[in-house]
Amino acid sequence: MSIRVFIPTPLRPYTEKQDTVEVDGSTVEEVLKNLTLKYHPLRQHLYSEEGLLRSYVNIYVNENDIRYLAKEKTPVHETDSISIIPSIAGGIDVEVETEEEVGLSNEEILRYSRHLIIPEVGLSGQKKLKAASVLLIGAGGLGSPLALYLAAAGVGKIGIVDFDVVDETNLQRQIMHGTSDVGKPKLESAKKSIKDINPNVTVETYPVRLSSENALDVLKDYDVIVDGTDNFPTRYLVNDACVLLGKPNVYGSIFRFDGQITVFDSKRGPCYRCLYPTPPPPGLVPSCAEGGVLGVLPGIIGTLQALETIKLILQEGEPLIGRLVLFDALKFSFREFTLKKNPECPVCGTNPTIHQLIDYEQFCGIAPIAKSKINFHEPEISVEELKQRLDRGDDLFLLDVREPNEYEIANLGGYLIPLSELPERVSELNPVQEIVVHCKSGGRSARAVKFLQQNGFPKVMNLAGGITAWSQRIDPRIPRY
Ligand SMILES: [Zn+2]
Repeated sequence: MSIRVFIPTPLRPYTEKQDTVEVDGSTVEEVLKNLTLKYHPLRQHLYSEEGLLRSYVNIYVNENDIRYLAKEKTPVHETDSISIIPSIAGGIDVEVETEEEVGLSNEEILRYSRHLIIPEVGLSGQKKLKAASVLLIGAGGLGSPLALYLAAAGVGKIGIVDFDVVDETNLQRQIMHGTSDVGKPKLESAKKSIKDINPNVTVETYPVRLSSENALDVLKDYDVIVDGTDNFPTRYLVNDACVLLGKPNVYGSIFRFDGQITVFDSKRGPCYRCLYPTPPPPGLVPSCAEGGVLGVLPGIIGTLQALETIKLILQEGEPLIGRLVLFDALKFSFREFTLKKNPECPVCGTNPTIHQLIDYEQFCGIAPIAKSKINFHEPEISVEELKQRLDRGDDLFLLDVREPNEYEIANLGGYLIPLSELPERVSELNPVQEIVVHCKSGGRSARAVKFLQQNGFPKVMNLAGGITAWSQRIDPRIPRY
């Protein structure tokens, strides 16, 4: 019996780019086994070394999580479909204080007139918006449409946490910042854009990296928290802080052409840890910088987050609590999945074990990686040294482990084997030759060096800073991306 399996974008490189595949099987277990037999490299993404389904990969039969069915033994039939949903690097009881009765000026009444004439908003809804406060974590791709629409809608106070400066690569999607803002703090241009749209909004800026030390303090004064970050430690930190403070967390994440959105509110439904109890190991899920993102996608997902935020404040409609919506831009499909609260959840379950914020870098396995780098496990070469040695005519083999489309943008004439293909294509390399491995900025190539060292290549080095450093310090004609 052949079952349709939906493959998410991050895993499509391993299924010959197909978004759906037909695989035989009468249970989830059989289907997934046949799937990984057909597409070998998928295995390491779906299963741990012990052969267990990885906890940051959720499997759905139709719209239901198999954890709440018969797990991997869940039977499947011809008309069923299986979806693989990996975590991607992201009503409150809005007790909006209407008692501190806010009023609207004539200017505001005119400004919000298209809201005021909708019965579901009206004067009282508009006052709720004015009395509400929303904290945006991140002033990037998702934060841009969020801030602009929430400001335009008349949310009284918008807080933004961000410590980044605007760079050229942001402009393709972070529409709150302009070309003239490059090099300046994102908070500066964010505030300027918000105030230009609606001077009535109070803007609070937090030029800090959100941490276990400051998160509760920053979050506590806001009615709704909106998570638009791009890394797993902050996702878990924001989640736990929201659960501990009892605040709703409007969650959105994006990768290439895929978006995810839901509202976590542990008082009324599941939290992020109910969905993904543990984070993926560092390096397995590429970031936007590594994997790319379609410019308009954060606009779509961020706008949907703004919509859910406004609904929570107005207490109108059905909030996206306990429902995860996946948007596939290439297919133009929205699919909805039911999320359940996990009674065993360590932070919002019946017997929680987490009562305060923890070290999230460590939890996400980031600290040990950084340490191994300090231990100089991977030998490095600087771009200056490489240039010198090439000029001298040394016999160096340059290996490029980026993707073909990156090679097309800019290359140093190296031999191309994408990191994901290295295990199968390692025989193309000569183990006695001195090999310099490079990628865009040095992360993927460090992993390639480690792999090659473990597979009998003694003379292999990582090009520190990658092709980006080469462009900055050796040859500016090489475009940066
Ligand atoms: Zn939970």
